[in-house]
Amino acid sequence: MESPDVATSTEFARALERAAAWSARYLEEVSGMPVLSRVRPGEIAAMLPAQMPEEGEPLEALLDDLDRIVMPGITHWNHPRFFAYFAITGSEPGILGELISAALNVNGMVWRTSPAATEIEEVALRWLRDALGIPSEFFGVVYDTASVSGLHALAAARESLDLDIRNAGQSGRPLPALRVYCTEHTHSHIEKDAILMGIGRENVVKVPTDAAFRMDAGALARLIDQDRAAGRLPMCVAATVGATSTTAVDPVSEIARVCKERGIWLHVDAAYAGPAAIVPELRWLLDGVEHADSLVVNPHKWMFVPVDLSVLYTPHEQLLRRAFSLSAVYLETPSTDGRNYMDYGVQLGRRFRGLKLWFVLRAYGRRRIAELLRGHVAMAQQLAHWIEAEPDFEILAPHPLSVVCLRHAPAHLRGDAAALDAHNAALAERVNASGFAFISTTRLRDALTLRIAIGNARTTERDVRETWELLRGLARDPEAEPSARR
Ligand code: PLP
Repeated sequence: MESPDVATSTEFARALERAAAWSARYLEEVSGMPVLSRVRPGEIAAMLPAQMPEEGEPLEALLDDLDRIVMPGITHWNHPRFFAYFAITGSEPGILGELISAALNVNGMVWRTSPAATEIEEVALRWLRDALGIPSEFFGVVYDTASVSGLHALAAARESLDLDIRNAGQSGRPLPALRVYCTEHTHSHIEKDAILMGIGRENVVKVPTDAAFRMDAGALARLIDQDRAAGRLPMCVAATVGATSTTAVDPVSEIARVCKERGIWLHVDAAYAGPAAIVPELRWLLDGVEHADSLVVNPHKWMFVPVDLSVLYTPHEQLLRRAFSLSAVYLETPSTDGRNYMDYGVQLGRRFRGLKLWFVLRAYGRRRIAELLRGHVAMAQQLAHWIEAEPDFEILAPHPLSVVCLRHAPAHLRGDAAALDAHNAALAERVNASGFAFISTTRLRDALTLRIAIGNARTTERDVRETWELLRGLARDPEAEPSARR
């Protein structure tokens, strides 16, 4: 009979050594690679056989194909000149955490299925909570993404209404329309979560924003009161600390007052900007969250933890538990066991994500994380300074953190919105086609906007300056040859 092992321990160790050397070299060399993948749709798939192999291949053969098949189709999120969306980092301790957790392959659904998975998650989340200045009554739980953290927050908010929806459901009953309040700058997951929960997009109310793209708390109060008067049921306000397009910070304290006076659940989405509260002079970002009912922070965004790891904090641990806990006969555990995280969410199986968070917090330490994040903000402010000094460029939003929104508006295009949009979209494409850097676009007041987000641990001021010089040069002369750099 054939051995059950797909590889001997020696073969596995050899493959691991090769993968380790490959990974270390990758991190060393990534800054010389084109940031945005240049393949065309279907090109990667065309290199793969149509069917799975009948007989297994050696591990070495899998690694042989990394450079040939996988790498051309990689957009390098771990590149220091990845400035699109929110720049992130798969850091060395985080990569180690991923490796070890795959080797252990534990499923931390209940405490006894790996006490270390539960307890390391608990402790790492307490460390993070305290480092960010979040009150000690907040309980934390890890989910994969902010979108899923938000879904669980909304479910807890709904549970707090005591409508017996958990048992009786929402359909076929005379219930008032449940309402969720956010702004047009709120991340789209709130709307998706509302769709999934049967609340419906029409009941996601977009509150007007001020000139700096922040929620208008007075308008929020009026909208809630109107809804109440019309017989609707305000369920949750979703405020954002660090909005996706601009990093705008909603006035959480004012919003909290509106929520408190009216008894409405306040959810704060600090997925991107929350980690920056570790920097003492940026702690203000989380001012007011002591009044929040739920708060999301994503260490996989701006805290060097590899995708995926999002944290939901709430002072209402028992409510969250009430929304989800369900006993199944095959999952019963003695009451003397520790915490069963399966009770706090829709998923049963749970990866050991706490390991990579614990590794990252230990390897960097609070001081180094704060220094790096402070550096990212300083680089963004420097970039804004260069842009301001340049005729024909406009900054389109306040830039309190590490993202700058801008556009090129040469005199001959001013006043022609469509032409300006096309010009800036083409400019972004040229920057990205250069391979030197990757930036993304958004729309602000309906104008196509270039967005430069700094957040990778290895980004230097030189990376930012040379990207700005490239952008400026291509704006002036679309035919300029971008590949001449570095
Ligand atoms: N919230 C904000 C403010 C975001 O910017 C994003 C993504 O960029 C999300 C939530 C969704 O994050 P995730 O990809 O973890 O679901």
